Amino acid sequence: MTDWTLECSACPHTEPGTALATVCPACGQPYLVRYAEFPASRRALLDRWDMWRYAALLPLRDGEEPVSLGEGATPLLESRELARALGVRRLWIKDEGLNPTGSFKARGMSAAVTRAKAMGVPGLVVPTAGNAGAALAAYGAAAGVPVRVYAPESTPRGILATIRTLGAELITVAGHIGDAGAQARAFAAERGFFDVSTLREPYRIEGKKTMGIELAEQLGWRLPDVIVYPTGGGTGMIGMWKAFAELREMGWLDARSSLPRMVSAQADGCAPIVRAFAQHADRARPWENPTTHASGLRVPGPLGDRLILRALYESNGAAGAASESAIRHATARIGRTTGVDAAPEGGCALAVCEALVAAGNIASDAEVVLFNTGGGVGYRD
Ligand SMILES: *Cc1c(COP(=O)(O)O)cnc(C)c1O
Repeated sequence: MTDWTLECSACPHTEPGTALATVCPACGQPYLVRYAEFPASRRALLDRWDMWRYAALLPLRDGEEPVSLGEGATPLLESRELARALGVRRLWIKDEGLNPTGSFKARGMSAAVTRAKAMGVPGLVVPTAGNAGAALAAYGAAAGVPVRVYAPESTPRGILATIRTLGAELITVAGHIGDAGAQARAFAAERGFFDVSTLREPYRIEGKKTMGIELAEQLGWRLPDVIVYPTGGGTGMIGMWKAFAELREMGWLDARSSLPRMVSAQADGCAPIVRAFAQHADRARPWENPTTHASGLRVPGPLGDRLILRALYESNGAAGAASESAIRHATARIGRTTGVDAAPEGGCALAVCEALVAAGNIASDAEVVLFNTGGGVGYRD
């Protein structure tokens, strides 16, 4: 029996894991899942090839079936050419574009919809820059639970078409994801649909954390020196950092493996985390007029700003932003040199990595993993 508690990430408030929880009622900050006990041995891994291989470390109770579409188990691809060109020892791309609906949002939604379904919610709602809506539409359909999605009009057309195809009700909104979020919350309050907005429920982080566990397993239970992660709402960054702490606590990591430096990559047109990191701040001020074609990074005021920044500081990490043209060039470069059809967010990770290596912030003997968080297909008209 997996048992867990929900702990506020900012104050002493806790709730039992059986609650249908949103954010901490005392301070409004996100909850984190704390497990009662961890399996002592890696033999607890299941013999299945999706993220539920790690069910022993996930919020799933005995006898429950996860809502799954084969998410996770994505390739970790080494590129000698990019390593040589950038000037680092080794470089891999973790290609999350191969997930259901073409992004790593599938991992978070698989975990969140599994819990929401177990709690018997009447419906699910999410504001999205695109990929979260597509993923929720897919997992809602798989679970047989109605879905409503609020997305900015500027969302890539291919992603909007996917949301409709998977049977969700799609509302397009003038403005950015913050505007979509306000409408989604109003709808949730009115109709009782459960809001699975980034960090407004505790389980998407748990799904995203499997990226970190999987990476460790693929590298033989050790971790790279540096992880460069395109950061929007920050669930992946927060989830992976949580995963590494749990792996270490369980003793599952190779004894010689140290924890990686975590690096946030953002776009010049929306870089609240990069600005806060440069100012050594522990909160990020919202970015005015966010603009970038890397739509997953267009998150002006992430609710998880404290947790993202904490991961960067605790890991002695870094943060950097890239211009729109640098993102375009780097995205095309990934495609040409590796065969990975990357989303612009993945291109942003490469552009920021290259700049940090050139600046001496990432060492020339470093082993680096870049996250390509989505596939390129949905971004083409
Ligand atoms: C949502 C999204 C991001 C940002 O993800 P967070 O983990 O919330 O920071 C990055 N890339 C793509 C393709 C996305 O869909």
